[in-house]
Amino acid sequence: MKTERTLAIIKPDAVQAGHIGHILTRIEQAPLRIVAMRLVRLDRESAANFYREHAGRCFFNDLCQYMSSGPVVVILLEGEGAIARWREMIGPTDAAAAPPGTIRGDFGESVQNNAVHGSDIAEHARFEINF
Ligand code: ATP
Ligand code: MG
Repeated sequence: MKTERTLAIIKPDAVQAGHIGHILTRIEQAPLRIVAMRLVRLDRESAANFYREHAGRCFFNDLCQYMSSGPVVVILLEGEGAIARWREMIGPTDAAAAPPGTIRGDFGESVQNNAVHGSDIAEHARFEINF
């Protein structure tokens, strides 16, 4: 499998709930390599730009509000098949339905407040890393 880079975000609900350390531990145990990491507060416009593929969806406004509601940890990850691997580790979008052992299953709350982001495909990973 080839070495890839992907973008992970620890979302405001998980930062607020004190799960940064637990989630970083999962990354280190994966193992995925942390290339860069930063705590940032997204403004609404940046959140809207980041999730622009969902503009027009019924949940879009709430999503932008949520993603700009507090600090997030943005992490550049690298590893063998990192994109699919990180998506596998985080679990399905709806945290309420995500299995135990997945990050969303263990640390997320709902379909919106689902603890983490992960790039879904290589093209999006490239955009998100530049972003
Ligand atoms: P992410 O892109 O954050 O890694 P994802 O790829 O699993 O999540 P997307 O369909 O890209 O899911 O949705 C982006 C984000 O929008 C979700 O992570 C969640 O926070 C929110 N979201 C998605 N679907 C819904 C919904 N039906 N109701 C409320 N919020 C939603
Ligand atoms: Mg997505």
